Parts: sequence; C-alpha cells; structure tokens
Amino acid sequence: MADMEDTYERVTELARRRGFVWPSSEIYGSVAGFIDYGPLGAMMKRRIENVWRKFYVVQEGYYEIECPTVGIEPIYVASGHVGGFSDKMFQCPHCLEFLRADHVAESFGIPHAGTMSKQDLHDVLVDKECPACGKVLGPVDVFDFNLMFTTSIGPGGQRKGYLRPETAQGMFVDFPRLLRFYRDHLPFGAVQIGKSYRNEISPRQGMIRLREFTQAEAEIFVHPEEKDHPFFSRYADYAMPLCGIAQQETDAPAITKTMRQAVDEGIIANEYVAYYVAMTHDILCTIGFNPDKIRFRQHMPDERAHYATDCWDAEALSDRFGWVEIVGIADRTNYDLKAHSKVSGEKMTIFVQYPEAKKVHHKAIVPNYGKMGPMFRNKAKAIAELMPTAVPQPDGLHLVVDGEEIIVPPEMYTVKDEMVDVFGEDVMPHVIEPSYGIDRMSYMVLEHAYAEDVADGETRTVMRFKSCVAPVQAAVLPLMARDGLDEIARKLVDALQNEGVQTEYDDAGAIGRRYRRQDEIGTPVCITIDYDTKEDASATVRDRDSMKQVRLPLAEIPAVVYQLMNGKKTFDQLR
Ligand code: AMP
Repeated sequence: MADMEDTYERVTELARRRGFVWPSSEIYGSVAGFIDYGPLGAMMKRRIENVWRKFYVVQEGYYEIECPTVGIEPIYVASGHVGGFSDKMFQCPHCLEFLRADHVAESFGIPHAGTMSKQDLHDVLVDKECPACGKVLGPVDVFDFNLMFTTSIGPGGQRKGYLRPETAQGMFVDFPRLLRFYRDHLPFGAVQIGKSYRNEISPRQGMIRLREFTQAEAEIFVHPEEKDHPFFSRYADYAMPLCGIAQQETDAPAITKTMRQAVDEGIIANEYVAYYVAMTHDILCTIGFNPDKIRFRQHMPDERAHYATDCWDAEALSDRFGWVEIVGIADRTNYDLKAHSKVSGEKMTIFVQYPEAKKVHHKAIVPNYGKMGPMFRNKAKAIAELMPTAVPQPDGLHLVVDGEEIIVPPEMYTVKDEMVDVFGEDVMPHVIEPSYGIDRMSYMVLEHAYAEDVADGETRTVMRFKSCVAPVQAAVLPLMARDGLDEIARKLVDALQNEGVQTEYDDAGAIGRRYRRQDEIGTPVCITIDYDTKEDASATVRDRDSMKQVRLPLAEIPAVVYQLMNGKKTFDQLR
C-alpha cells in the first residue's frame, strides 16, 4: 500500500484546498472517475491546452475542428469500438465488487497482463486476493465489458448514440470535407481538443483514470509512400531516451538517440512518427514535466493494434503510479479511412497527380453495333454504353442492365490494345496520430511542480510551475492597505491586466504569509509596494523559485512581467 504521505497525497490535498481540482458533485457524494477543475485548475488546464495549440495549430498549421461528443452508431461500428472497445472484467464472488482483470493481475506482479486472454486471466487470478475485500478470489468469470457510454437521440429513443470514446473519429469522418478545405493536397492535418468518455471499470487513480476526460488529438493525413516529414530538420538532432522493442525484450535501459539516428537505425518506423515523438517531448518539457521523469516506450508487437506499423507512448514517472502513459503516437496506416469508407460507402481517397503522365496499356472494348442491334434490340444502346467498363471473361462480358444480368458474347465486340495517358491515381492516405490526455498532463504538471524547501527558516510548499502554465502569473502586494499604498497597488494591477497578465491583488496578513500563499499556487512573481514606492516610484519584484528580489521602476514592471511570462526574459536578466 502506498505511503499516505506520498507526493500524490500532498498534491491532491493542495489541489483541493487551493482550488485546482476536486471530486465532482461532492455534496451528493461523488462518483469515481469524475472531477471538477476549480478556478486555478481550470485556468492551468486552459494554459496547457494553449501551449499544445501553439505547437500543433500555430507551428504545424493543423487547424482545430470541433465535432459533437455524441456520435451516431455507424461511426462506432466502423471504428471498431462497438465490436471491440472493451476491457476484461470480473466480479469478486465475496464482496461483489467489479474489477478490471488485467489491473488486478498486474498488481500481483503478473507481466503483460494487458495482453492476456480471458482464460489465462482466470487461471492467474484463482489464488489471488480480492483487492477490495482481501478474500481469496477462487474461480471467477472473466468477461468483456464495453467501455462506451450509450445514449439515445431524439424523443422515444429512435436512434442509438454513443458518447465519443476519443475525439479522433470526428477527424476521420470529416475527411472528405477536410480534404477539400486543404485543396486536395497531402499532407494535411486536423486537430481537436475536447471531452471523451469511457466507462472505466474501477477508476481509483484520481486524475489519471477518469470516466470523462479531455483529449487533444491530431490526425495527420500523409501519402502512404511519403513518410519523410517536410520539416524533419527541426527535430533531427533532438535526442532523448528511447525504450524500443529491443530494450524491453532484453530488460536493457533506455538508449539515448537523436531522431535522425532512431529513424536511420530502424528504431522508429519513419520520420513522421519520430518528429511527433520529439515534439511531444518538447511540449511536455515546455509545460514543466521533469525531463528526468519522461521516457518514450515503443509498443511491443502483441500490445500494438494489428493495423498500426509503429506506436510509441510518452510515459511520465509518478511517485505513486510509476510510469504512466500520457501520450500515444501511432502510425495507424489507412485503417480508419478504409473502415469508414466501407461502412459509409464514401470514397475516402485523394487523387494524386503523377509528376508526368504515365503511358499504360489499355484494352479498349469496341461494340459491334451491327450485330448487337438484332440481338439486344431496344437495350442495345444501354449495353453498348456499359461495355467499355467491363472486364472480358472467356464467355464474354458480364453486365447488369436495369437489374437484369446480361452476357454479351465475344463476337459482339472487338478488344483493341492501345496506349493511353494516365495522369494520376486515387490514394487512401495513411494517418499519423499523436493523442494526448490533457488531464494526465495536468496531474503530472502538478506533481512535477510540487516542491518543499526552506524559506526564512520555515518549510514552504512551492509549486514550481513554468510561467506559461501558472494560473496566476503575478501578485501585487501592498505592504499596508492604507497610506495610498493600496491605490498604487491597484493601479499596477490594472496596468498588468492591460498587458494580459493574470494578476491577483492581496493586502491581507503579514507579507511573509502572503508570499507563502502565492508560492503555494505557483505564482511566478510577486510585486511588493512599500513606503519607498511613494518616494521613488519603484517596487520590489520577487522571484518565486530563487526568492531573489530586484527593485524596478513601477512604469517598467508591466512590460517586464509580460516578458517574463512569455519566456522572452529570465529573472536573472533583470538588474
Ligand atoms: P488511448 O486512445 O487509450 O491511447 O488514449 C489516448 C490518451 O488519452 C492516453 O495517452 C491518455 O493520456 C488519455 N486517456 C485515456 N484514457 C483515459 C482515462 N480514462 N482518463 C484520463 N485520460 C485518459
């Protein structure tokens, strides 16, 4: 059992008390798997999403779309979720608790439980204790439980609907329209940030496993034979530790490689996947993950979806949960477009022009009208129009005209071999999909930012947030709430807000206590207005992490703080 005073416990307590995150609908007794983001948490989450947007929308140019969270049945039949989006579950025969079979097996140290069959899970669980009541389980019935929430659409429940289990399907279903929007050119991408729903069996891991959670997903449509990223040079020299299949098979430690090496040595399947592996590392470090607590793990062949050619998880180390999957990056080939094309009947392809027209042999079928007239009479014209599309069989051409099957014998036509120009071909794109869990990112930002150190002889708790995700960016603290100090402080708050800096005003209590309050919510800078301010129009700017202070002219402070918040300056660069 985890230590009750582990970082998870401390972070969760702070998150509740200071308005980051708390259980949903507490006054009615909350239900596992649902959380509320409080004022600071919602602000921080929005900032994390905006950092993500900066990379995917601004840098990559993949526009954001927004699809409904309720989807009609055919979407999820095509995607395979109706048929197979399930976890293996059993019920404890003693306490009647429903439990996820692979998770219970894993908690007893059984390796690769996630890929075990129902029978194998049954066999390993038989002598284990129920994690809920502690009694030996004995033989249990392990069965599939579909994780989708169902709903009905319209009065009387005419149509079945599902709450989307991922945002991805919206982008696949919209492929024909997106293709037109991007003027029929590959590659292109679309992204979506929004809620997804999974009826998780027994979510007991706070923000890590939720029944309603936020995903940020990108679907990048590429030519199947062109998987070199056009801007690969941006991340070619980016190095990071990789746990490839080979390392996992031999229990070897992760190997540090640049993305160029990883692709050239065949560790990562192609430049596109490598590019987004590196960009994901970049994003996670930007929002404040501890770089020593990030690793990239490749899916083992038995863990990877059968259609995917390569899949990597970004994992982060958590004090209580160990390595947690935060992001999945996969080359999904044309699996999704093919599936939606089959079920919807829509053509999910793009016409790709060849650089030069290709000459190809073509067998042209030329009808012999003289012979056809007497045989087919008033149908002869319709048959003749269809003949060029048919493939000659030994007994002639097989056609269907007005629902009637007709065989046109070989003496009714001649086959001419000719050379024709072909200008291009229909191609079904492959999809590269980076998929991020925003709640897991938010939790890890909290856990990795959490620190305790000593300030002025006493322990302080400090959230060492990166400025780009800190919910409150600056606090203005008049030493006294009188003698005009409060007025100067209010004016400074106004000026900071005009710069777009999220600013708090606080004049309550001793100044040391006020610093501690701001440290605990991770406010990067505090500005103190004292009696000297009235004389020299300057104020003290205090850095949260180093607790260093500099004196700056009041008039300069708003622009300086703006620069600090946007990474254009560091505190050490201030005089
Ligand atoms: P998946 O489609 O299962 O690969 O999920 C993509 C991402 O969504 C994961 O990497 C997680 O970060 C996140 N995610 C999946 N399931 C949950 C959940 N139940 N609660 C919170 N985040 C989740």
